[in-house]
Amino acid sequence: MSATASFEEQLESYVTLLLRLGVNLQPGQNLIINSTSAPVEEVAPVMRLMTRKAYELGARNVYPQWDDGEIARTRMLLAPDAALSDVQLWRVNWLEEQSEQGSAFLSLVAPDPDLFAGIATERLTTARRANARAMARFAEATSKLAHPWSVGAIATRAWAHKAHPDLSESDALAALWRYIFTATRIDRPDPLQAWREHITQLKTHLDDLNRQRFTRLHYRAPGTELTIDLPAGHLWVGGGANAYKGNTFVPNIPTEEVFSLPARGGVNGEVSSTMPLEYNGGMIEGIRLTLQDGRIVAYSATRGEDALKSIIETDEGSHYLGEVALVPNDSPVNTGTPVYNTLFDENAACHIAIGRAYPICIEGGETMTPDELAAHGVNRSDAHVDFMIGSAELDIDGETASGARVPVFRHGMWA
Ligand code: ZN
Ligand code: ZN
Repeated sequence: MSATASFEEQLESYVTLLLRLGVNLQPGQNLIINSTSAPVEEVAPVMRLMTRKAYELGARNVYPQWDDGEIARTRMLLAPDAALSDVQLWRVNWLEEQSEQGSAFLSLVAPDPDLFAGIATERLTTARRANARAMARFAEATSKLAHPWSVGAIATRAWAHKAHPDLSESDALAALWRYIFTATRIDRPDPLQAWREHITQLKTHLDDLNRQRFTRLHYRAPGTELTIDLPAGHLWVGGGANAYKGNTFVPNIPTEEVFSLPARGGVNGEVSSTMPLEYNGGMIEGIRLTLQDGRIVAYSATRGEDALKSIIETDEGSHYLGEVALVPNDSPVNTGTPVYNTLFDENAACHIAIGRAYPICIEGGETMTPDELAAHGVNRSDAHVDFMIGSAELDIDGETASGARVPVFRHGMWA
């Protein structure tokens, strides 16, 4: 796709990338497209285009899920307190059935950081927890890669305004789409080929890290002095190395990270976020955590501390970390300013996650029971929230079993 391609051509190329590289849709497979926070009229053109492309690629049935951001806001504002923990169980059961059949799941995200502005945190927390509890089995199947899934973004007016507050509505929207197309390599002459090369490069880093078998990582940056122990048998994964019935899929578009898991009880020190975090219709900024033997023992945020508290207080596991991810500062996703969408921002910078760890990050994890995973130091929680700690000032060393220190990152870049 050349730089002179029209918007329609680029959008078609992008939708095709999400289907072919993202979920790697196979003939005869069902596709579920879901969108939760975007206005239904803004997501509709992309849903329709994607539905057509999916059938052209041989989909059996395409099932768009028409959720609407404003309707979600209205419910959070006006529904009685007791109703906020109600869940549509038929829908959860249907998703589980589709997962068992190996259907493909594609989420279109279009965050509106102000969607739930002014709504009491307790109401949001009640609804989020009820939903997370009901969706626990499906979330586990997703994190074990039991079905192919991917997440891609679409530009909406609200998000565009947040990312480009000085531009007119139409200019902001155009600028955000341009950014999405650059970050996802749609502006390259052959986007799929560019992705194959990128994934090969990610694999080089994965292989290197998996050979080194570091027992500990040392992080140093302004406001950060942290050690993260890596459990025995940990695996670095990323770049869609994940095969589902022999078909590789790429869970996030873009994806620039290689990631693993911390040993549940092995994180110590202080860590500070370097970018604002868009979370559940609000913003969290200036996060500082203090960890002792893996547990978050103190925390603060300069904005959205209530929301941070609600994450950390989700359950026992959300007092621990579940992911450690490395992303170099020259990622095409990184423009130097946040775009207020974790899908992009987490691929612009090194990050860690509060909460659940991915079973794929430990040898044999996919087939372990929850108790076996826990025994291997894999953290369990209903929460999994990434926040960015990378910057041009971040240095990371790896420590080997013999105690030798090897530079992994210097000034935010692979050493
Ligand atoms: Zn990540
Ligand atoms: Zn994550």
